Amino acid sequence: MAYDANNIFARMVRGEIPCIKVYEDADTLAFMDIMPQSEGHTLVIPKVAGETLFDTPPASMLAAMRTTQRVARAVQRAFEAPGIIITQFNGPVSGQTVFHMHFHIIPAYVAGTLRPHARERVDSATLEAQAVRIRAALLER
Ligand code: 5GP
Repeated sequence: MAYDANNIFARMVRGEIPCIKVYEDADTLAFMDIMPQSEGHTLVIPKVAGETLFDTPPASMLAAMRTTQRVARAVQRAFEAPGIIITQFNGPVSGQTVFHMHFHIIPAYVAGTLRPHARERVDSATLEAQAVRIRAALLER
């Protein structure tokens, strides 16, 4: 499948549609998932075009992983999550639904209680309140 430059995440990178950002640098963007599997579920994307792990340049994968580590640490701190799950899907059969490479940062609180993947929408006020906590934790050292 050819990369669709109008996928929802590419449009967020270009600022054409809103997202609740927690972190941004020259190469990556991190924002709240609108159908979170748990409180604090955050997504990290590289800014370059690439559908999956396989067609995203290695330097961009590295930048995205660096941001994932940094933001995951903040998410863990902000929500005092005892566990953090990092996932990354490649292709529809794997469960990928948005075709721009991304990492999921999913806090785990109690084993076996994650909500289903990409199903239940959470309102933006709730997500913004969670983003405030993550942004604050990112400023801590
Ligand atoms: P995938 O299924 O591709 O691994 O993950 C895509 C993720 O993007 C899902 O967890 C889904 O909830 C999230 N998502 C889908 N549409 C939007 C959107 O418009 N905004 C945000 N912030 N997240 C989205």
